[in-house]
Parts: sequence; structure tokens; C-alpha cells
Amino acid sequence: MTFQRPANLASLEILRVRVDDVTMDETIELIAAMLAAGGAHQIATVNPEFVMAAQDNVAFRATLAATSLAVPDGTGLLHAARWQGKQLRSKVTGIDLTERLAAESAQRGWKIFLLGAADGVAAKAAAVLQQRYPNCQIVGTWAGSPREPDQPVIANEIRRSQPDIVLVAYGAPAQDLWIRRYGAGLGIKLGIGVGGTFDDLAGLRPRAPQWMRKFGLEWLWRLIRHPERWRRIFTAVVLFGWAAWREAQRIKRG
Ligand code: UDP
Repeated sequence: MTFQRPANLASLEILRVRVDDVTMDETIELIAAMLAAGGAHQIATVNPEFVMAAQDNVAFRATLAATSLAVPDGTGLLHAARWQGKQLRSKVTGIDLTERLAAESAQRGWKIFLLGAADGVAAKAAAVLQQRYPNCQIVGTWAGSPREPDQPVIANEIRRSQPDIVLVAYGAPAQDLWIRRYGAGLGIKLGIGVGGTFDDLAGLRPRAPQWMRKFGLEWLWRLIRHPERWRRIFTAVVLFGWAAWREAQRIKRG
């Protein structure tokens, strides 16, 4: 049995990057289908920074195109879809997906491995998930990096713990390129790039308050807390917004 993207799974292209119109519940059911089907799968949590990076990074663009699922992780994408007269129904963020996977793991026995982030952060994130979802199966954690010399030991750790799902927190595009390059060879059934999720879970970066999230103002929260990241935020909000808006006008003009 091979995994087939459901015929009714809608997706759209924003600046040549495919984004799938899925809700969190649908994402979980698609993951269940991928794991049941076997093979090596990859999910990308696409946000505006991904889209901008993919414009002149051919390998990254090809990697995103080859994913089994590309979930919308950013309010900017939902706006861009609307500008095109289309719809992305909801955001599916890396951190929300990670928490939901931990909950599903407790129910369904999915084995999860946390790879990446600074020393001790993945282990701390695992401890937080274990506490929130007591029966979740975190079978291993490893800090490591996407650099070549780190690969043998990472390979050992992953082969030893035989996870179903590896969550990779190297930041984009490194995490997504890593999954594409090594996932199948390591027998990883599903690799998901989750960015700074482990930092968030470990409490290193408090999340934006609920009202800011509701209004899509996470970028403002990040700017206030991490002004040194202004360039990334400018790219995600201003450069992406401008490029996606212009593309939408072109599409509408036909
Ligand atoms: N990271 C890592 N190895 C690297 C480079 C980055 O483990 O070689 C980690 C970093 O510690 C952080 C995550 O990758 O936990 C990426 O965070 P980023 O700020 O890019 O995430 P975002 O804010 O985009 O979710």
C-alpha cells in the first residue's frame, strides 16, 4: 500500500511554493495514513520565510515540492491565499502539531524522536511533553547539527531507537534539506521540520499571548522580544506580503 494524497486535498501555490489546505485534524489523519502506508514521508511547516527562501534556493524549493504534505504555518500564508481568491482554512504550526503528535502518540503508540536545537533543549522539550501527555512515546532526543561530521552519531541514535516520526529543529532550510537527504536511508517513516519548537516547549521563547496570535501578530511579539531578528521579520512580513500581493494581482488579471 502506498500513500496517496487524497483527491479532495486542495492546495495552492504561493510564489511557486505549494501549500496544502489542511486543518490540524486532517493533518493527523493524513499522518496516520502515511505511517500505515509505509515508505519515507516528509512534512514541511511552510511559513512566509520558507517561501521567500525558496525563491532563489533551488534545492529547498525542490524539497518542499517533494513533501507528502506542506502545512500552512503562518498567518501571512492565509492572507496570501485570500488575496488570490482562494482559501487556507487554518494555520497548522510546528509547535501545535508537535503537541498534538505527543497527544496522539499517547493514544496510538507513535514513537517520536526529537532532533536538533542547542544542547539539552530537545531533552527539556521531551520532558515537558512527557509531563503534559504522560503516555507519549518519546524514544530519543539528540542535539546535534545538520553538519556532515555529526551524521554518524545521529544515524546511530535514530537507528537504535527506531522512531516512527522524527521532529527536526535545525531551522529552515537546513532541517528540511536534512530530512530529504537522510530520512529514507535512516528508515525514518516521517520527518517533520519544526523550527524553534523545542526552544518554545523548553520555555526559552515564551509564546505570544493568545490575543496576539488571534490577530496574527506573532511577528510583532517576536520583534518586541528579539529586535535583533528584525531582518527575518521584515522578510516574512514586508517582503513576503508585497511579493504575494503582487502575485495575487497578476493571477486575478489572468
Ligand atoms: N539549530 C540547530 N542546529 C543548527 C542551527 C539551528 O539545532 O545548526 C536550532 C536552533 O537552536 C533553534 C532551531 O534550530 O532551536 C531553529 O530556530 P529558528 O529560530 O530558525 O526557528 P523559527 O523561529 O523559525 O521557528
